[in-house]
Amino acid sequence: MEHGKNGRPKRKDAEIYPLSEKLFGLCGSHYVGQKQTLSGQRWYRCSGKHERYPGAPVCECNGIPSDLVETELWTLLIKVLSNPKELQKAAAEYLDMTADQKVSFEDRIEELGRQIEVQARAIKAAMTVTAKIAAIEGKNDEEIEAEVEATVAPLMHEKTSLEHLRAEAVQWQLEADAANDHAKDLKKLAETARRRLHQLTLSEQAEVLNLLGLKVRVTQAAPPAPKGAPCPVRTWFEERDLKIPARVGEEAWRHIEPIVSAGDRPCRADQRFDHREAVEGILHKARTAGRWSDVPLAKGTGKGLSSRFRRWRESGIWDQVMEFLTGEEATELPPARKIELPKMEVEGGFILQELLGSLTTFGGTLPSSTTMS
Ligand SMILES: [Zn+2]
Repeated sequence: MEHGKNGRPKRKDAEIYPLSEKLFGLCGSHYVGQKQTLSGQRWYRCSGKHERYPGAPVCECNGIPSDLVETELWTLLIKVLSNPKELQKAAAEYLDMTADQKVSFEDRIEELGRQIEVQARAIKAAMTVTAKIAAIEGKNDEEIEAEVEATVAPLMHEKTSLEHLRAEAVQWQLEADAANDHAKDLKKLAETARRRLHQLTLSEQAEVLNLLGLKVRVTQAAPPAPKGAPCPVRTWFEERDLKIPARVGEEAWRHIEPIVSAGDRPCRADQRFDHREAVEGILHKARTAGRWSDVPLAKGTGKGLSSRFRRWRESGIWDQVMEFLTGEEATELPPARKIELPKMEVEGGFILQELLGSLTTFGGTLPSSTTMS
């Protein structure tokens, strides 16, 4: 396993969700990346769905498919980031702006410092004078103290608020400095990343999103996620870019029969299939995009057929079986079920806004298909 600088194992890219905590649902809560336990697919799930206590109200936000939203967002960003001149221009403008701000913060901090000093001197003078007059008037120590306190209280109050203002200005100055570093990072990004924006890994994409201060807001209810895991049979054909054999011919079956019989193992009565029916049933599922339970079987159950397929696939038997069926007439894979993205809006700091111009929305269309069954 690869290890990062800190010696801990590096996170696999599949576990990286660049939009975690940057994607906000209609309810206002952020989404977090999560791998689905059954299908292993990457999704974003709204944190508003989390019950703060048993029975607590949760939001209605539906999940958002990670690959799809990341691809669409990245396509949009490539459009605006692939022009390094534009990016440099926006960063330079921003640097100018923060430079002006920095000067005005410095002036303000200095001015407030002067005022605080003046106020401190005034307090000291007021204390001395008040004490002197009270003493001349023949007041006792306690009375003098009370009078001094009453006189300087409003002055002290004013000094405290000046100090608050100065602390605030110092904070703003620090933030402007940080923003400045940010803009410089972005300029660097413009110089280095333009050649390979199309090939950034998910963790590199996440870094860029951080630099841009990007947020995505869902502005339309997300459609419900299709139920169930992707069909493993369909996936098998898709991965090999193969069509589905329409039938198991007699000649092919003569070769296949010994392979599947030899690879079989004793099993429960309800899982005892006719081997040929099992092969045909598996192909039927892929052709019809139905569920395992929809496969017509004389013997055995859909669940049993599903584990049979898994066993054949894992042991390589299915690959051998299919080799004998490549010559058969074949049908195309049924159209994949489509997943829709809700309409979303991109937000970000000054630089991103400059770059995006009017290109701030995406999603809400029927994008390229993702296979589900
Ligand atoms: Zn929500």
